[in-house]
Amino acid sequence: MPMSEAFKKRVFPLLPQLAAHYGTPFHIYDEAGIRATGERLQKAFAGIPGFREYFAVKALPNRRIQALMRQMGFGFDCSSIPELVLARQVGGQGEDIMFTSNNTSPEEYAFASQDGGCILNLDDISFIPKVPKFPELICFRYNPGPRRTGNVIIGNPVEAKYGVAHEQLVEAYRRARERGAKRFGLHTMVASNERDYTYIVQTAVMLLELTALLEKELGIKLEFVNIGGGLGIPYRPDHLPLDLDSMAQEITALFDTFRKEHGWAPKMLMESGRFITGPHGCLVTTAINSKDTYRKYIGVDACMSALMRPALYDAYHHIDVLGKEHAHKSEFYDVVGSLCENNDKFAVQRDLPAINDGDILVIHDTGAHGHAMGFQYNGRLRPKELLLRLDGSVELIRRAETVEDYFITYNFAPDVLKP
Ligand SMILES: *Cc1c(COP(=O)(O)O)cnc(C)c1O
Repeated sequence: MPMSEAFKKRVFPLLPQLAAHYGTPFHIYDEAGIRATGERLQKAFAGIPGFREYFAVKALPNRRIQALMRQMGFGFDCSSIPELVLARQVGGQGEDIMFTSNNTSPEEYAFASQDGGCILNLDDISFIPKVPKFPELICFRYNPGPRRTGNVIIGNPVEAKYGVAHEQLVEAYRRARERGAKRFGLHTMVASNERDYTYIVQTAVMLLELTALLEKELGIKLEFVNIGGGLGIPYRPDHLPLDLDSMAQEITALFDTFRKEHGWAPKMLMESGRFITGPHGCLVTTAINSKDTYRKYIGVDACMSALMRPALYDAYHHIDVLGKEHAHKSEFYDVVGSLCENNDKFAVQRDLPAINDGDILVIHDTGAHGHAMGFQYNGRLRPKELLLRLDGSVELIRRAETVEDYFITYNFAPDVLKP
């Protein structure tokens, strides 16, 4: 089931009051749910010494949420300067931060090395001479190419712009060592929103094979392998959840076997985003218009600036109409925002109960890659974010954008060049 029953039970009764107090639209996140999932992940992999989750900051880059990740002992997976700043703002330092950028600029490398640095994860062999201050600890992102078939969002590894090719991997570590690296890690990210846990087990198999290869070829004992993110969540009511426990058991057994055969084993890192926060957020919006033309439309007060996934990936997000959760689904609606793009639809021909102006709609599973992806196209501004805290109180953790924010980038000194 999308969105846990526990979250529903906690948040649905509050929504009329929250809508009245804060105004819609807003995303609301569930601290209890995020913590429970975080703890579940840590417990599942407790059998691998040194296991650590590096939360993929891009999934939910809210400072309050990142502080929560820090409290849970997670590190941060960043891929831009603002994400590095955010991780450092909440106390992330040095090896708490993994910098997995691609098509990286000199400014980014310089910034990454400041303030105690971070774990640099290089996306290509050509970056080795370009890193200004080559660190002692270095990681490479691996792209298996035709050895693996990707899944829908990430696509086929052969077509993916990310990572070092198989044939270049040993050479990459050799060159990194020549530049002074003494400690090494290996990273890959070959799945996105994958609910078939065996796919992720196969990724662990692949990484441990490469670990053995690097020891054999170069005598390098990797300190860690980072299995990436991409753990899937059920968005549709008929989706089965990822079997985390089976996945963890099988991966732990792989590491145990490796340790028996080699007398040592790398640590395992993970950089899950969606799995940790995705189901623990929802977008709350009010129906403000209805329209009956060739189809029936419900216009809501949020638009794709608050949630891009349906437009970008044709993604399904389950919708409840507050107070009508169990009502007969008598209608087929397109649920739309007001942006001048016809893909600004949260749902297309969705069977829903009859909706009236003023009804509150809850769009499920917006806790990851939701607010974060929003944009300002068409002058449609991004909504606020709320946190339902452990004690049942609700906190505004980001205000809505204002018209002033929209114009803020005109604040600059005049700069005219006459070439
Ligand atoms: C986006 C991303 C993640 C997180 O992906 P999820 O699907 O949210 O788990 C992890 N690592 C990298 C490199 C990414 O780009």
